[in-house]
Amino acid sequence: MARHGTTRAHRGTGAQLTMDSLLAYARRQDRADGLAHLRTRFVGADTELVYFDGNSLGRPPVAAIERVERFMREEWGGRLIRGWDESWLQLPYEIGDRIGRAVIEAKAGQTVIGDSTTVLLYKLARAAVDAQVARDPQRREIVVDRDNFPTDRYVLEGIAHETGCRLRWIDVDLERGVTPEQLAEVAGPHTALVVVNHVSYRSAYLADAPELTRIAHDAGALILWDLCHSAGSVPVHADRWEFDLAVGCTYKYLNGGPGSPAFAYVRDDLQQALRQPIQGWFGTADLFAMGPEYVPAPGIRRFVSGTSPITAMIAMQETLAMIEDVGMAAIRAKSIALTEYAIELADQWLAPLGVVVGSPRDAEERGGHVILQHDAMREVTARLWQRDVIPDYRDVGGLRVGLAPLSTSFEEVHRGLDATREVLREVLAERAGLG
Ligand SMILES: *Cc1c(COP(=O)(O)O)cnc(C)c1O
Repeated sequence: MARHGTTRAHRGTGAQLTMDSLLAYARRQDRADGLAHLRTRFVGADTELVYFDGNSLGRPPVAAIERVERFMREEWGGRLIRGWDESWLQLPYEIGDRIGRAVIEAKAGQTVIGDSTTVLLYKLARAAVDAQVARDPQRREIVVDRDNFPTDRYVLEGIAHETGCRLRWIDVDLERGVTPEQLAEVAGPHTALVVVNHVSYRSAYLADAPELTRIAHDAGALILWDLCHSAGSVPVHADRWEFDLAVGCTYKYLNGGPGSPAFAYVRDDLQQALRQPIQGWFGTADLFAMGPEYVPAPGIRRFVSGTSPITAMIAMQETLAMIEDVGMAAIRAKSIALTEYAIELADQWLAPLGVVVGSPRDAEERGGHVILQHDAMREVTARLWQRDVIPDYRDVGGLRVGLAPLSTSFEEVHRGLDATREVLREVLAERAGLG
């Protein structure tokens, strides 16, 4: 099954590596890497620090420093309130459309930069559930898996509480995520909404988005995709896969900066049918009419609530320009090569120490990070941070190696996993000594 248009390229890495030194391989990959020049465009990429957390908070693009400063001096400082006249009001939709075009393949008018992912999830999920229950009072179930990202689960619990709907939980294998078989088993005439993470934040399992969407639709349900861990790392075809709704982060692979606002996608023919729950003046048909009551704007604008966080959406534009330049296919190819290499190093260096790769080995089922399981990983992560090697830790026993394709080099992967091996040996030696 050829999913997501990816191929099984990079198979056979292992055979190649046994004939070659692992470091020489990394250097050769870096020389051949068509995206290598982009690494120099990120703050700190020229230092010895190893960054394995670009999937949690991307590095700042160097050009964003100047862009933010220029914005503050010229636009905020120079234009003051006049800035809202045209350009700032349009910016959330302009950037939204760029994300639509370059990152998630959605035609214009369906994507907007809004609030945090959590708030957008709430707004879209609540709008979807309300519309479904109004259409058919039997549809009172929200399907979600137990390993879905915490904020998604909490938001949906809240919506269930508010609306009297029920959560229908899918138990997933922690090394994977929701499979088509599992969704087909629970989706039916009672399903209002299905919420799925495209890439699992823990295992990196890449859900079969077109297939799960089809299954939800066959059951008469709407589906909301959380693209936080795929946007900017794994190609998404929102229109072609017939998504209804989606949200995604901009501070992970899109390098928008800590707390930069998320994006929302709402399929155009659904927009008029949905009414989101946080009705504010920025989502009304005529913002400055200050009218007596709320009249939702036509189109995607009705999903906006209050004043758009303009300052916080400046930096992400640098990464969008890079993605527009090189395309998601090249980014995905490098992402696969990076994760394949990390898995190879883990197999050769860490497996003998008891580490288990907790991410899918098939690149077609894996997003942009790799999780390495061992009960010492909490301690290992803490010690690595002190040595300027920055992965993160996810319970239970998972060291997460996030590999942002635009800013990570193969040699960096080599350095980071070499340090991981050293620190893990150290921790295990101490344990043995204590034993
Ligand atoms: C990072 C992440 C979020 C974050 O939500 P915020 O509102 O930005 O804190 C949500 N969902 C997933 C799947 C994530 O990976």
